[in-house]
Amino acid sequence: MVEHLTDYRLVSEVEPELAGLLIKGLRAAGEGELADQVSQLRYHGRCECDSDSCRSFYTAPRTDGAYGPGHRNITLDVGDTHMVVVDVVEADIVFAEFI
Ligand SMILES: [Zn+2]
Repeated sequence: MVEHLTDYRLVSEVEPELAGLLIKGLRAAGEGELADQVSQLRYHGRCECDSDSCRSFYTAPRTDGAYGPGHRNITLDVGDTHMVVVDVVEADIVFAEFI
């Protein structure tokens, strides 16, 4: 079955707690525009690593290889529950790491 973009559920439905942490962390980091994006992000599947504690997930279609020159990482301080890093390409959040 082919998945269409609209078939992906909102991150705020799949992982409401983590979406809340993203918004809080991005705002605290001065990334208000990215924080505003979180409510519209769609869940593109979880990280495929084997770690039990990893709750990382994709927020854009997966790409093979590197993200390219427009890519940056933002480490967020959300307290002691998770280590959170968001991957941003140009102006879009593409992956959220919850380690
Ligand atoms: Zn993982």
